[in-house]
Amino acid sequence: QPLIGILALQGDVREHARAVQACGAAVTSVRRPSELAAVDGLILPGGESTTIDKLTRIFGLRDPLRDRIAAGLPVYGSCAGMILLANEIADPAKDRDGNAQQTLGGLDITVRRNAFGRQVDSFETALDFTGLAPVGEAETPVHAVFIRAPWVERVGASVQVLASVEKRAATEGATQAGAQNDRIVAEVRAVAVRSQHLLATSFHPEVTGERRIHELFIRMIRGEA
Ligand code: GLN
Repeated sequence: QPLIGILALQGDVREHARAVQACGAAVTSVRRPSELAAVDGLILPGGESTTIDKLTRIFGLRDPLRDRIAAGLPVYGSCAGMILLANEIADPAKDRDGNAQQTLGGLDITVRRNAFGRQVDSFETALDFTGLAPVGEAETPVHAVFIRAPWVERVGASVQVLASVEKRAATEGATQAGAQNDRIVAEVRAVAVRSQHLLATSFHPEVTGERRIHELFIRMIRGEA
């Protein structure tokens, strides 16, 4: 039975803890290096990545976290957690002194924060997600909730895209009379990625009762996925 830690500095810690328990794994909060040292896998919850970034340093967790991630600790980040796992942020927030927010890194991706824009800053969709069904069974979509979510703009060669959404944009002319002039451009953005022991989603499976993403993460910890 693996012990799964939830980084409990800020964000939706309780929802992840419930999801892990519903999968039958043991769960504990991580706020200190000694607690981090005891876990077999770690979840970085959704919340506010700038706040979690600051708190990891205040709690003396930044270097221990970076060290364990580099040493192969399985980590799953949802939303703000995805941002914290990313090697690069396209548009990092800056504090009053002009210092850009930092990430823990480990996952070779570039993320854009709050990427879906103001009009759709939160939305839900049915998402095709690769590799959730047991071998031989059909994949069924994930009901995904996005809340001021990031998307992935670049993935490194080692990174597998597990789910994407289409971002539709009407080009110039779309508002003019004569719909034949309209051109709808669909861009695809990655919203779930994996690289070896690291898993990240832009959305929040922990708030919908969806268990399959946490189950996948537990299989990763067991070396079964
Ligand atoms: N927009 C938040 C951030 O940049 C993430 C939102 C979330 O975790 N739901 O940290």
